[in-house]
Amino acid sequence: MRVGVPAESRPAERRVAGLPETVTTLVGAGLTVDVQAGAGAHAHASDAAYRAAGANVVPDHPAGRCEVLVSVQPPTPEQAARLREGDITISFLQPAAEPELVEVLKANGVTSFSLDLLPRVTRAQSADALSSQALVAGYRAVIEATRRLPKFLPMFTTAAGTVPPAKVLVLGAGVAGLQAIATARRLGAVVEAYDVRAAAKEEVRSLGAKFLELGLETQGGVYAQAQSEEFLERQRELIAERVAASDVVITTAAVPGRTAPVLVTTDMLKAMAPGSVVVDLAAETGGNVAASQPGEDTWIGEVLVVGARNMPSTMPVHASRLYARNVANLLLMMTADGRVEPDLDDEVLAGCCLTHRGELRRELP
Ligand code: NAD
Repeated sequence: MRVGVPAESRPAERRVAGLPETVTTLVGAGLTVDVQAGAGAHAHASDAAYRAAGANVVPDHPAGRCEVLVSVQPPTPEQAARLREGDITISFLQPAAEPELVEVLKANGVTSFSLDLLPRVTRAQSADALSSQALVAGYRAVIEATRRLPKFLPMFTTAAGTVPPAKVLVLGAGVAGLQAIATARRLGAVVEAYDVRAAAKEEVRSLGAKFLELGLETQGGVYAQAQSEEFLERQRELIAERVAASDVVITTAAVPGRTAPVLVTTDMLKAMAPGSVVVDLAAETGGNVAASQPGEDTWIGEVLVVGARNMPSTMPVHASRLYARNVANLLLMMTADGRVEPDLDDEVLAGCCLTHRGELRRELP
């Protein structure tokens, strides 16, 4: 069966869903792989490298000319309209934001898999693109903050005196937050963090950061649930002083399927020292920081608020490497003897299957 890897066509997307190494893997599993010319340009994977790995390099978007279409961003409704009954597509479909696309996939009888719906179970870990891309975002958030901070992160002891280390506060210690903590620690900052999940406490400490004990009763176990507005109000009161004392704040607190909670208000930003930097990784899902705008830097007085937009796309080489492996691993879970035939009784495949044989298999949030 034929797998197609397009050049991403949605604005500002620099990642790619297949790299030469995953082409080799898929060809080894008996599949044929078509890669659109230039698909790997931002990830520095040349057409020649794809050919050497066993792919056919094709001039156009492969939708309609392959049985399996794999991409980072979802196909456009026009591209999806070229998919045929029984074709398979894998991407971050973000179905709630793509009602028109979902209708086309359903109407055409496409079997679509959305990596943002993948169950977070052990067997699915090698395909967990939400985690791999969150790791990239968490790392990059620290780099973006550091680049804008008019200060050092590490402590320096010099003949001209000692410079103290920067103080970094990370709110939300999931995959992205933990990677932000680890990166800020490696750069020499003093780091503290808070998460509503009790399990995060040990993870934060194991990275050499301090866990903020707010003494709040939280809801939710492994995965965060939305906290009440009363809880959030109390949380903001309790962290205000830690925000004011920080040189850098990185917020990553998302709640799956819901608008992100506001953790940092404009008044809290105004209490920070001039030159401080706040990076809001949740800017695209409503924002943890009142003033943040996705893709924009906003000054609140002398404090800079960086609203993240598609952070993983700013690191296309490694973000693509991890994503392409996630996609190949998911594809291998449904491939035998060169045929891709998903077993929808399998909990991992069933969990992330959005449409199949004209049916919508998941309720949209
Ligand atoms: P996420 O992106 O959904 O959210 C980011 C973090 O924000 C979470 O840790 C969440 O608890 C936190 N948060 C939400 N509201 C908050 C608030 N008001 N204040 C402070 N923090 C708040 O989370 P994620 O990175 O996808 O990971 C969530 C959990 O899932 C983690 O425990 C992670 O280790 C786990 N996980 C498990 C697997 C697996 O395969 N078993 C895979 C990936 C992640």
